[in-house]
Amino acid sequence: VIVVLTGGSGGATFVQGLAEVVPARELTLLVNTGDDLLWWGLHVSPDIDSITYALAGLLSRERGWGMEDESFRCLEMMQRYGAETWFQLGDRDLALHLTRTRMLAAGKTLSQATREITARLGIAATVLPATDDRVETIVSTAKGDLTFQEFFVRERWQVEVRGVRIEGAERARPAPGVLQAIAAAEAVVLAPSNPITSIGPILAVPGIREALRQTPARVVAVSPIVGGAAVSGPAGALMACQGLPVSAAGVAKAYRDFLNVLVMDTRDTGETAKVDALGVKAHCAATIMTSAEDKVALACAVLAAATTPDLASRRAAP
Ligand code: GDP
Repeated sequence: VIVVLTGGSGGATFVQGLAEVVPARELTLLVNTGDDLLWWGLHVSPDIDSITYALAGLLSRERGWGMEDESFRCLEMMQRYGAETWFQLGDRDLALHLTRTRMLAAGKTLSQATREITARLGIAATVLPATDDRVETIVSTAKGDLTFQEFFVRERWQVEVRGVRIEGAERARPAPGVLQAIAAAEAVVLAPSNPITSIGPILAVPGIREALRQTPARVVAVSPIVGGAAVSGPAGALMACQGLPVSAAGVAKAYRDFLNVLVMDTRDTGETAKVDALGVKAHCAATIMTSAEDKVALACAVLAAATTPDLASRRAAP
């Protein structure tokens, strides 16, 4: 089984390619829940939703979040009733949030709800929230403390970032199956997701980082930073505020205590020596996923990096 740590958009795009080359049953996704929010009284898990829709072939190609073939009639009426509408939920998408909220209200955990929902959608892969406990990513900004969605969606991340903290992380426990999946994996892959606000909240759950250090499986990450900038979104500013260089080497630095191989873009070849110097093997590939072919090619490059013997880094040596 290949275990993938992932956030939402970049992660979902990557998982679409991986699902083309790895049988779904052999995929376990460990998903960020730091972006979860209560919206119109509903429990929304944006990253679990994106991964779920990606695996079910329902993810909107146009928006990269939410569903294909969507309408926003409910949202129009919510606006007339005076509700906030900066975070958009589509009509078809609402069914998922209603279902999850109903299950949680009946006493099910987030992982139980996720298992039932993914089964209903015919998804054979295992989708696990990193934790069933509430963790919340808070971004400190020039406008004060914001939840991740307030920062990312409402403010369109155009506000100066001062720090990030993951509230509730120290009390959170890994969801059932998470540590076991990491320990028993054939390979562990970190999707090209935001290292601070997508992968960060997963690593902040006590026990998960340690499991990644201990696993005999090779750990491979895909850099979301290409040519010294994030491919999209605020990863650059967030890494900088945590004192990390905004580069492939900065990604290697964030994960160096457990990472074996960093798959980084061919345009960053000049940085491979810096990555290698951190004890992480650099492996260059085309990492920009524009077409379906790009996604499959990146998935194949990652699988190659996970299995090629000469990429065994110091950590992986027996
Ligand atoms: P979020 O939860 O929606 O923020 O999604 P993720 O954290 O999973 O993905 C966002 C990250 O994906 C950003 O840091 C981007 O730089 C990165 N990203 C998006 N598209 C690509 C791509 O085509 N290639 C690579 N290498 N990274 C990408």
